[in-house]
Amino acid sequence: MKIQAINGFKDILPEAVGRWQYIEQQARDIFERFGFQEIRMPILEKTELFVRSIGEATDVVEKEMYTFVDKGIAMRPEATASVMRAFIEHGLHVQQPVQRLYTIGPMFRHERPQKGRMRQFHQLDAEIIGASEPRIDAELIAMGRMLLDELGLNVSLELNSLGCPVCRPPFKERLVLFLEERQEALCDDCKRRTRTNPLRVLDCKKPSCRAVVQEAPSLLEVLCPDCDRHFVEVKTALEELRIPFQINRFMVRGLDYYTRTTFEFLTADLGAQAAVGAGGRYDGLIEQLGGPPLSGIGFAMGLERLALLMEQQNNRLIPAKGMDIFVAALGTATIAFAGQLTHALRHQGAKAAIDYSGRSLKAQLKQAGRINARFVLIVGEDEWMKGEAILRDMQTQEQRPFALSGSTEEQARRLLAMVWTAAAP
Ligand code: ATP
Ligand code: MG
Repeated sequence: MKIQAINGFKDILPEAVGRWQYIEQQARDIFERFGFQEIRMPILEKTELFVRSIGEATDVVEKEMYTFVDKGIAMRPEATASVMRAFIEHGLHVQQPVQRLYTIGPMFRHERPQKGRMRQFHQLDAEIIGASEPRIDAELIAMGRMLLDELGLNVSLELNSLGCPVCRPPFKERLVLFLEERQEALCDDCKRRTRTNPLRVLDCKKPSCRAVVQEAPSLLEVLCPDCDRHFVEVKTALEELRIPFQINRFMVRGLDYYTRTTFEFLTADLGAQAAVGAGGRYDGLIEQLGGPPLSGIGFAMGLERLALLMEQQNNRLIPAKGMDIFVAALGTATIAFAGQLTHALRHQGAKAAIDYSGRSLKAQLKQAGRINARFVLIVGEDEWMKGEAILRDMQTQEQRPFALSGSTEEQARRLLAMVWTAAAP
């Protein structure tokens, strides 16, 4: 019996990894332009961390989190809570009042696997802690936009404000009254949510619930003066940076810690998996987790969805990675020498391949083609005895003699000089 991977857990095969590395590299590059530093946290955290941050009555904590019940630990379903835990634990704000942190890694949620929805998935996560100006919100959103543009993706931006502990509770009460009068029209989940998490009803995807919600009161109309000003200034700052957006007053996000600005980057090209990335402000979160009263804002993008969307929208060619040189040793006498030369080439920075099987030249050239080698050094027994080999340019098919004089290191250096010259644009 073959053992297969668990449903919802997927291998990322070498042919796909090029695209992943490309996305990660672009992300690192852009995040670092904005002054972000990388942080890496463990995959397991105390369950309590997510209960206190994401919220007990959220889908993520209630249904999707992988928890070791007997150990009180969970596999992280997202990154923000872990970043905050690490930030507080190490007092990072003491060294630098405003921290810009990013992390890339796997997250785990037990949901129904579909295209772009996995049980182990990967997020690019960016957080700015210790700054509350609206321009920070706009700058962070602009950074997400820059990455999406750099990847050539056509994705829209939706914006909302979720208010704060001053204006949200009275709004929630109004919303509950509104929903209670319309219970019979709501789905079973939303009937339950009316009491546990009424805001979630606003972004239920079921058509019947959507129809009800169209008439619901809007939080945007009852924001307190501070939240209202913040929202106006975020919108202005986005306009200044020429970032187009649309207001979506129904966007609530599935995590309880959000305050004020929330946003989503959306696509129509991944079916039900519309969000490529999402984020928002979480001004009370750090204090709620036992840290100093600092505000924060962040976003997370799903790597699976970015990779799928790239394939679908632009299928941009990621330069295939090839080898610089393949050393073809013909006849057993040459193998030791060829091995030493290959090692010296690698030592000096070349991507060098070798075949120890003593197969025919034809078979070895075929192998060199398969691994996309730029050059092949053919070391035949007779030539080798005379201190010679043949260098074949796999692009032009040209062959020329190569003198095996001097030390192995010197030979490697001379070969490398040719490889670099050929590679230069
Ligand atoms: P969705 O509405 O698709 O369930 P979400 O609101 O639960 O998304 P967040 O918690 O905001 O997602 O996570 C940020 C990003 O992480 C999402 O926009 C998405 O790109 C990605 N993501 C979330 N859950 C998954 C998953 N199960 N599989 C793949 N990517 C995911
Ligand atoms: Mg989800």
